[in-house]
Amino acid sequence: MQNILDQVYEQAVQYTRFGKVADYIPALSLCDGSQLGLAMATKDGQIFSVGQAEQRFTVQSISKVLSLAYVLTVSGEDEVFARVGKEPTGDPFNSIIRLETSARRKPFNPFINAGAIVVSGLMPGATPNERIERFCHFLADLVGQDNIVIDATVYQSEKATAARNRAIAWFLKELQLIDGEVEDTLDVYFRQCAVLFSAVDLAKFGLMLALDGWDPCQKRQILIPRQARIIKSLMTTCGMYDGSGEFAVEVGIPAKSGVGGGIMATVRDRMGLGVYGPALDERGNSTAGLEALRRLSNALDLRVL
Ligand code: GLN
Repeated sequence: MQNILDQVYEQAVQYTRFGKVADYIPALSLCDGSQLGLAMATKDGQIFSVGQAEQRFTVQSISKVLSLAYVLTVSGEDEVFARVGKEPTGDPFNSIIRLETSARRKPFNPFINAGAIVVSGLMPGATPNERIERFCHFLADLVGQDNIVIDATVYQSEKATAARNRAIAWFLKELQLIDGEVEDTLDVYFRQCAVLFSAVDLAKFGLMLALDGWDPCQKRQILIPRQARIIKSLMTTCGMYDGSGEFAVEVGIPAKSGVGGGIMATVRDRMGLGVYGPALDERGNSTAGLEALRRLSNALDLRVL
């Protein structure tokens, strides 16, 4: 297994030069675009890794999976999907257009920014601080760590520049999909996006999803199977933004990416995969990460679609 991972790394790392690090969040432009880290957590509890797999980076949109998992456990499926749909859009992650034009008047899914901001608004707690603290507590349990760290620089940098996310959030307020203060909900959203994980952490999370919510390291059920199924289905149809269809064809497994360069993927009953490669394509997906997953899927016959 390690040999396969090493070979895939050697080939995929060449693809870092076809991408660019995100710079619309100014602090992200400081990342080193030539980096690549790959991690695999297998059902029997082994971890394989290569490159910058221990390097921590901001999860960005991968936090949308984490917040959905959390809110499903604290609020339940009905409450969540009363405010957000389960359908792909084919639009970029930060698109606002369908909020106004769709007759349903709610975001299409929880993995575009609009849907994720609604989900952040459902986190329980009196203040943004309390909400994020309780969320981080859930995450610490999830990855079996003592504490979860938020990158303050990236958080502040996004908060200071997020005109488009503010526009989306105010639109959601008008649709009565956000209760309370818009800026408080945005604050929670920016902080969850700046949570630091490594590729290894992502692989472990992916493994838990692969085992229908069972964490083999902690030997306990973290999510009920239905919650894991909802999350994996949405990852399949919406996880790679407007590249989800092509990813399904080329790689064929549920995955979720973030503009920090991460991709978390899951292979039913077999393994979780974590990638860090901050050079991105025009859709916001890691170029080397996509190539690595494509090669791994072929080499190990991971395709489930
Ligand atoms: N925080 C980022 C944003 O809202 C997350 C986007 C992403 O990773 N695609 O723009």
